Amino acid sequence: MSDKCVLVVSPHPDDLEIGMGGTVAGLIESGVRVVSVVVTDGRRSTSVEGYTEDEMACIREEEVKESAGILGLHDLRLFGLADIRSERDQALMKDKIEELILSAEPYDIYIPHPTIDKHPTHRIVSARVLEKVKELAAGGTYVPDNIWCYEVWTPFQEYDHLEDISRHADLKGKAIEAHKSQLQYKHYTEGILGLNRYRAIFNERHGVTEMKYAEVFQRLNADEYLS
Ligand SMILES: [Zn+2]
Repeated sequence: MSDKCVLVVSPHPDDLEIGMGGTVAGLIESGVRVVSVVVTDGRRSTSVEGYTEDEMACIREEEVKESAGILGLHDLRLFGLADIRSERDQALMKDKIEELILSAEPYDIYIPHPTIDKHPTHRIVSARVLEKVKELAAGGTYVPDNIWCYEVWTPFQEYDHLEDISRHADLKGKAIEAHKSQLQYKHYTEGILGLNRYRAIFNERHGVTEMKYAEVFQRLNADEYLS
């Protein structure tokens, strides 16, 4: 096991799985330590069964733990915030992220895209993470090698990295399926594996590819988030 560490930030309990579940499975297989942080408890998601918010939060905690087990994720941190809309909650999140970054010292950080992703909670969480990284860099305490954005609610028009997840697509599907409460109102697995299939097939115009599924990432320019 190497001591390489990456940090994946999920605004909700299922974002890592949807955006980069295959990549995470591959990283873990290659000995990279993946720290997964889930910022909110997901209590505000649509409930087909009529669960209260507290019930939904409990259900989603169990689901994300099950999903982490499927992916082989051993370092799952649940911040458990009920909401992220207030400045107070955002400040609390930044404090927790700082503590985590300084203890784990990840060389790469993965977040949803701070401007392209159409889910407002994703954009808020990513913007606050970037602010924190900028503060730490300005203080000379921490600078990541890369900050990567993964796709969730809005497909990217351009990307800097394509990861072949063909071998781990089944596992990714199973990890998403662990989030049963969410699948009751949207077929997330079909939606994202369809996009991952598209990425593999349409990546290159010429040549035959054996690749079946792929995830793509945009790398943020350090000039943009550190200046
Ligand atoms: Zn989300």
